[in-house]
Amino acid sequence: MRGKVGVVGAGFSGAVIARELADAGYKVIVFDSRSHVAGNCHSERDPETNIMLHVYGPHIFHTSNEKVWNYIRKFDEFMPFVNRVKALVGNKVYSLPINLMTINSFFGKALSPKEAAEFMGLIGDQSIVVPLTFEQQALRFVGRDLYEVFFKGYTQKQWGLHPSELPSSILKRLPVRFNYDDNYYASAYQGIPKHGYTFIVGKILDHPNIDIQLNTNFERGMAGDYDHLFYSGSIDSWFDFADGRLGYRTLDFEVERHRGDYQGNAVINYCDQHVPWTRISEHKHFAPWESHDSTIIYKEHSRQCGAADTPYYPIRLVNDKAQFARYVELARAEQKITFVGRLGTYRYLDMHVTIAEAFEVAERFLDMQKSGGAMPSFVVDPLA
Ligand code: UDP
Repeated sequence: MRGKVGVVGAGFSGAVIARELADAGYKVIVFDSRSHVAGNCHSERDPETNIMLHVYGPHIFHTSNEKVWNYIRKFDEFMPFVNRVKALVGNKVYSLPINLMTINSFFGKALSPKEAAEFMGLIGDQSIVVPLTFEQQALRFVGRDLYEVFFKGYTQKQWGLHPSELPSSILKRLPVRFNYDDNYYASAYQGIPKHGYTFIVGKILDHPNIDIQLNTNFERGMAGDYDHLFYSGSIDSWFDFADGRLGYRTLDFEVERHRGDYQGNAVINYCDQHVPWTRISEHKHFAPWESHDSTIIYKEHSRQCGAADTPYYPIRLVNDKAQFARYVELARAEQKITFVGRLGTYRYLDMHVTIAEAFEVAERFLDMQKSGGAMPSFVVDPLA
């Protein structure tokens, strides 16, 4: 055995690092405070209907990173799934992300791709040269009408803030298309694991060199037992919130059971501000290869994350960033611990990015072990 490492958190970050190091001959102990692996992408079958539930909200795997795609498919079969989100506004249904169907039905036109690009150029606010805020990004690229209908209300519900207070990076996640492609993601590969995310993470962790300790809160004092620690919990909790709590949004799900087909699609966004939920996910539609007579829906509500809540989305506004920078300083002074993943680096990361970064972390660790260099507290600059 080459050494003993500890991994805190059994989500994708922790699992991939654990597996890479176990494959390289290290003994790895993985801790998670929850009763299951897979973090927030945990999925489980509803005992009554057998529908696979995305317990912490919808997770659709997509990536253009071939290494990630080839890796993940070693642990489960990926079933074809394309996320085609609909948006409900008033009593009308539109296609998302904003594409030619959305533009034509919203404005009552029949524009060609070229005409739509010209039209959007005219309605977009060209005086905004470098959009800094979410609102500026929207006004620049889709104009005021589409912004107010599709983004303003939804974003206020999702983030609890006006879009003029949020960074443009949040909206940059969504493309605007001048064709009828309504695939929500622009990634080369997309799918859902046939047996669910908890199965796949369980498989990644299924290695003779890996021990898993669930229902275990990792305490600072336990770190001395390990040659190195990879920490994917929230960075502020590692430092006992010495500088206060970092801002997160959490989600509440209002669960309903119905017969038949409730909404005819996996995800429908509710963009109107007066509707209390942001979106409704109908879980059986994430597994179109299965057939179920009943259905389970989650109405998703977003709110400020409190001390007892599950953190989902890092807010990362200017003041959060300053507070986070102080935690980064504390983290950089630590020895033998590397902060990883969404919570360890306080960034809004998709699953595939988390996996790609976990490869980098493991690779760097193995390189440092070989060269005798010190493993840094962060492998990716968390303040970038
Ligand atoms: N968004 C919006 N209206 C929509 C969908 C998204 O205003 O119908 C905004 C919202 O601020 C959201 C961001 O775009 O947080 C990114 O959307 P995405 O669907 O990527 O969010 P996620 O699925 O990660 O919650």
